[in-house]
Amino acid sequence: MLETRNIEDYKSIIGEEKINEIMSKVEVLEGKHILCINSTFNGGGVAEILNSLVPMFNKAGLRVGWRVLHGSDDFFGVTKGFHNALQGSKLSLSERKKRMYYENNRRFSTYTHIDHDLVVVHDPQPLAMIDFYEKRQPWIWRMHIDLSNPNPVVWNYLKRFVNKYDEMVVSHKNYLRDDVEVKQSIIPPAIDPLSLKNKELRRVTIEKYLSKYGVVDNKPIISQISRFDKWKDPVGVIRVFEKVRAKEDSQLILLGSMASDDPEGQKIFEKVEKAKEKSKYGRDIHLIMVHSDILVNVLQRASSVVIQKSIKEGFGLTVSEALYKGTPVVASNVGGIPLQVVNGVNGFLHSPRDYKGFSESILKLIRDGKLRKEFGKNGRDHVRNNFLITRLMDDWLNVFLKYLG
Ligand code: UDP
Repeated sequence: MLETRNIEDYKSIIGEEKINEIMSKVEVLEGKHILCINSTFNGGGVAEILNSLVPMFNKAGLRVGWRVLHGSDDFFGVTKGFHNALQGSKLSLSERKKRMYYENNRRFSTYTHIDHDLVVVHDPQPLAMIDFYEKRQPWIWRMHIDLSNPNPVVWNYLKRFVNKYDEMVVSHKNYLRDDVEVKQSIIPPAIDPLSLKNKELRRVTIEKYLSKYGVVDNKPIISQISRFDKWKDPVGVIRVFEKVRAKEDSQLILLGSMASDDPEGQKIFEKVEKAKEKSKYGRDIHLIMVHSDILVNVLQRASSVVIQKSIKEGFGLTVSEALYKGTPVVASNVGGIPLQVVNGVNGFLHSPRDYKGFSESILKLIRDGKLRKEFGKNGRDHVRNNFLITRLMDDWLNVFLKYLG
């Protein structure tokens, strides 16, 4: 069921004063119409954020629309290649790929009428849309992925679109670029504490869902919840788990859903299945591929430790989701993760290839209930203070006011 929350519902979490501040900004923007464009309605962090933020703005009284770019499988194959290249992978940028990218954006623009007061375009897939409009309003490019070390050929190709925007918003200061003309700013993502994925759950609900998916809660659960994507290193998670399991009876759950703009998921899932089959501890490894917000919530709560073993990570909403639920996180010290995991305070950070470090930190946490509790409290406070959707709403209102106030 799709729920829409009201800003008032957050009063008990952020207080009345903050709510009034947000509402006074919304009032200044009365009558304005804003458009968001991205490339999938579910799967992945961007859809997660828009699914909360867009209805919340509308409920509060600001008209914010959301269009999802229509793309062919070939198009999403090309844009996933761009995504990988922007995070540092190799890609041969052929004329065919450029044409596929550009023409798909052109086609979508022919039936996407834009007469809004401001446009926010998310990520590279719909970036080129700006080429097909007579620009009558501010356009903002909201880039969610790690741009610190992009493949220069792909970045140079995309830069010419970026420079047409009024502003580029990134998640972390390390992603700011000194080779673009566009104004830049930083807005870290955030989670919705009242969504089905994050809200409080009763113990019976947790037990019901664990048993529905064949998980017996009789030994510590370690989980990673992420798309099956090479950047999330699910096979590496299995390697880490093997080291943990050799010393302590425990179980691993890898939950991943598919996103319609990520065609590589199935292939990676098959690799993970093979790694599980080969593993001496295969019986303690559960692979689950479903799209279920409540299951994400259940697993993040039922786990003794959540792992996020990403090789690159723009932000990693899953980290805040777990921390908010009082579950410590052992994660890679890459991208946006160190904004969330404070090493030795609410979790542990390691370099992505440090299997030994990962396994030792996990063992430490599963063996020490007091430490888990302390980290859990710290994690929850850290997310409450920094990464809640109401803060994100306020940040975006400030951007809108800058152009439309
Ligand atoms: N997610 C989900 N089901 C899954 C795996 C992931 O709902 O099986 C969600 C996850 O809870 C988070 C988002 O997808 O809200 C992933 O965002 P993140 O920033 O961690 O990574 P991205 O997929 O955007 O790279």
